[in-house]
Amino acid sequence: MIDTGISSRIPLEEYARILGEGEIEELRALAKPLRGRSIEMINSTAVGGGVAEILTRLLPLAEQFGLNIRWDVLTGGDDFFEVTKAFHNALHGAPYHATARDFEIFKAYNERNQSRLPLDAEFMVIHDPQPAALIEARKKNGNHWVWRCHIDLSHPNQAVWDFLEPYVARHDASMFSSPAFARKLPIPQYLFYPAIDPLSEKNCDLEPEFIAGVLARYGIDPQRPILTQISRFDRLKDPVGVVRAYRIVKRYFDCQLVLAGGGAPDDPEGSVVLKEVLREAENDPDIKVLDLPASAPLEVNALQRASTIVIQKSLREGFGLTVSEALWKKKPVVASAVGGIPTQVIHKQTGLLAHSVEGTAYQIRFLLSHPEIAAKLGESGHQHVKENFLITQKLKRYLTLFLALSGCK
Ligand code: UDP
Repeated sequence: MIDTGISSRIPLEEYARILGEGEIEELRALAKPLRGRSIEMINSTAVGGGVAEILTRLLPLAEQFGLNIRWDVLTGGDDFFEVTKAFHNALHGAPYHATARDFEIFKAYNERNQSRLPLDAEFMVIHDPQPAALIEARKKNGNHWVWRCHIDLSHPNQAVWDFLEPYVARHDASMFSSPAFARKLPIPQYLFYPAIDPLSEKNCDLEPEFIAGVLARYGIDPQRPILTQISRFDRLKDPVGVVRAYRIVKRYFDCQLVLAGGGAPDDPEGSVVLKEVLREAENDPDIKVLDLPASAPLEVNALQRASTIVIQKSLREGFGLTVSEALWKKKPVVASAVGGIPTQVIHKQTGLLAHSVEGTAYQIRFLLSHPEIAAKLGESGHQHVKENFLITQKLKRYLTLFLALSGCK
């Protein structure tokens, strides 16, 4: 079981200060009938990536409302995570020829985890495809199982989806981050936005001296524009495309590029992609490729806050928590119009969208030459996140779902 620790609890009064007492009261009312009842969240990594980020913050908050919530992580060998990463890319639409052996590996590790994990909570929440086959261990007329999908399933590889679909269909409900990701399924499908914790180390206010210290440590010049993309080194995040966009911008502005990314234990491709990025960067002293530890929230926070513009040039994206993180910090964002990103970046209102390397460069140049527009976009972005993508709203959604599943008892 992952221990998020009592020390990571942030007092509810601090959330009330940002969101108003009403929001906390509403959560208390919804949580009351669920107090002491058990919830088990299962995903495939304790650190790295958006799902771990959300669970790290959701648990300490939920516990403060009296919920008996735990978080377990699937274990697997390299062979399992190679298969599941390939499935992940294939479900996002990348070309892939799945073999019978891939499916056997997937099933074998899920079977092993069935006997390792308790799987007996009243509400089981299964995150993403990796643990989807745990549903086989469900007891008849037992607990409630829901499947939370964080990836863009709008154009999945058919063979991989055909393999997963029967597992998904045995859950009581499914949750997707965008209406466009919904599939034809015999179970209810709900829209659930990912969310950030405004008070976590990743998003809280920071002292200017701390931010200056982080910049100094990495040799980043605070006097010149800083363009930043924070992402795992993953081809779907297109870090090489970011370098190419920067090179175009660099012809017009003396700017710097920061590409910061840590790994995740369930992502075996990181080191290969990191090498590709370093090759593309060609020792340009104004490109800082930072291989961060999987969990370095204060550093990520500082880099986001120090940025002139935050980029998220993904080719596919379930949601992209990094976008909400940047908007919360009132940063102008230039991001690709893919997956869950346009829900956060409403073009010309809360940021700018692009569809290519050249488009990304164009929007960055526009913002660098119109700082007053950039500031306005950042302000509206902050408000948009406050209204839609904070962890308190997410908990509310979960509580409502659990109440509905249990017949409001
Ligand atoms: N992140 C991090 N360090 C890194 C790279 C990413 O802490 O070096 C965090 C990032 O701030 C965000 C999460 O990992 O909270 C990534 O979530 P997102 O939804 O953007 O992408 P995913 O990795 O889940 O595809």
